[in-house]
Amino acid sequence: TFLMQKEGWIEVICGGMFSGKSEELIRRIRRARIAKLNVQAFKPAIDDRYHHEAIASHNGLMADAKAIQTAGEILNYVSEETDVIAIDEVQFFDMDIVSICQKLADQGKRVICAGLDQDFRGKPFGPTPFLLAVAEHVTKLQAICVKCGGPASRTQRLINGRPAKEDDPVIQVGADEQYEARCRHCHEVLR
Ligand code: ADP
Ligand code: ZN
Repeated sequence: TFLMQKEGWIEVICGGMFSGKSEELIRRIRRARIAKLNVQAFKPAIDDRYHHEAIASHNGLMADAKAIQTAGEILNYVSEETDVIAIDEVQFFDMDIVSICQKLADQGKRVICAGLDQDFRGKPFGPTPFLLAVAEHVTKLQAICVKCGGPASRTQRLINGRPAKEDDPVIQVGADEQYEARCRHCHEVLR
């Protein structure tokens, strides 16, 4: 067979919470496995809302994944035989994730990253914007705004039922927090 293009590239699936990022990532993993490709999936150990060793979507889909502490660990698990590397919740990784994804894509791997592009304040989130800049393919998904029913690009953070303040830490372990999908116009950040 001849190839129309050289192998190895970066795909990023981004958007707010509930926009279907994990669902889309799981779909791409499943289709790669149908194509008999060797897929390895990773997620940050920090995110254990659903399952330690799986990518889980809000509508109940699952795909097995290795929970890791640092981006660098990916290189320990990826082998010659790996065709596809899938990474969920990529916004929680350190900046090393960007050069690691570049290196893997240069080596001929298909790298698929899914993650939040904006934090609860509507600001670019961690390494995601840098991955968007270097990716060959970008998919930006929108959820449904729970206030107005329009397309939702943002994630509303609520603490004890009230919009979070701008200076509240991005990750607050143990607080009574809720997140909902909202559009630009319905999104609120207290100052
Ligand atoms: P993400 O990874 O982007 O947080 P998921 O793939 O986990 O999203 O979940 C997407 C699913 O969430 C949708 O298919 C739908 O069933 C459900 N869902 C719940 N609330 C909303 C919402 N406000 N807008 C869109 N989908 C929602
Ligand atoms: Zn709205």
